[in-house]
Amino acid sequence: MQNEENDHRHETDRVVRLLLLAPPGAGKGTQGERLAAWSGAEHIAAGDLLRAEAQTGSALGREIAACQASGDLVPDQIVLDVLIPAITAAAARAGFILDGFPRNLSQALAAAELATRLGLTLQAAVYLHAPESVLIQRLLNRATQDGRADDRADVIRHRLRVYAETTGALVPYYAQRGILVTVNADQPPDAVTADIQARLSGLLAASDDRPPGSPS
Ligand code: ADP
Repeated sequence: MQNEENDHRHETDRVVRLLLLAPPGAGKGTQGERLAAWSGAEHIAAGDLLRAEAQTGSALGREIAACQASGDLVPDQIVLDVLIPAITAAAARAGFILDGFPRNLSQALAAAELATRLGLTLQAAVYLHAPESVLIQRLLNRATQDGRADDRADVIRHRLRVYAETTGALVPYYAQRGILVTVNADQPPDAVTADIQARLSGLLAASDDRPPGSPS
């Protein structure tokens, strides 16, 4: 029995369970992709999954598109319906890097409940921070390249306000749980990646039998 329990723990410990917490423009998407390639886990980007759903043109898609265009949060139940199947599937494989979820306290509670249901705990919440002036400049630059509908000066300001008023509360939430890893995102992307990997390699190695810093 003891051995079976140990075997089970060993199995679930191999699953990567990370989330990226950051204001718009801090580089969650870029770092999420790199972290996924590095760790072997899946990058689950809430905004991308919701944008894909929006593009279907369904009634649900239209509701999502309206929220995204204005920079408001999509209602929690819709977010959970879109994300939980993806997270559950990734948890049964090599694990997940959550990018943009949870984004408020009730989503964080839903995420904790899901983790309990899956028999998993989060290993770390990586908090990327940068001064607001840097974030605004990056988003305005991205607007000229990607043409995302919400990268307009007025919507950018609103998204940053939503972050400050709602998502920012998750920084103390994860700090209190002892899993917050804070990284300076006001550096070139490679330096941010190196900092994240340096902070996480011990942690992932401790719960995993892959060699630390193992391949991308
Ligand atoms: P950014 O972080 O630059 O705002 P994202 O692609 O992560 O970019 O999010 C874009 C938009 O998608 C948000 O402004 C919001 O409308 C919606 N969204 C993404 N994730 C969530 C979430 N967890 N809860 C509610 N809405 C979300």
